[in-house]
Amino acid sequence: MRVELAGLENRAGRFTHEYAAGELVLDDDRVVLTGTPKVSGCISRAEHRVVVEGEFTAAAEVECDRCLQPVELPISSDFRVEYVTAETYKSRETAELGQEDLTLSIFDGEFIDVDEIVREQLLLAIPTHAICQDSCKGFCPVCGADKNAADCNCNATEIDPRWMGLRDLRF
Ligand SMILES: [Zn+2]
Ligand SMILES: [Zn+2]
Repeated sequence: MRVELAGLENRAGRFTHEYAAGELVLDDDRVVLTGTPKVSGCISRAEHRVVVEGEFTAAAEVECDRCLQPVELPISSDFRVEYVTAETYKSRETAELGQEDLTLSIFDGEFIDVDEIVREQLLLAIPTHAICQDSCKGFCPVCGADKNAADCNCNATEIDPRWMGLRDLRF
């Protein structure tokens, strides 16, 4: 979704959007969006500066760190992004503003690509580690069996030395 900035001079415009399945594609193979992500917020424009504030909810499927089964996570977060035009960014006045606010982005002055914000913010909001359940047993380090499905008969002391470092690893 793009929001045109024409006609938004010095006032705020609200937006809300519900994404259809497949409409929003994340640039990350580890994450699959499920359900319908929703975003809503407000764009305000003052001279050469645009502020976008809003919130989104989504559901994402990631792999369990231990057993690699899919885990569905509810995601919600709010955001605040500021834009200036490249022209303004280069001018001395805004260079000072840029130093105090590193979240400043550049836009072309015509429209704001809300999808891009949502994609970026979604990836930031997804935890880097997930487990399907606290009691997930993961894979047997000896035979590779999924121990949630069935216990194997491996002797725990026969751990392949290559896996030793991983044995005590906690996520
Ligand atoms: Zn698991
Ligand atoms: Zn085993």
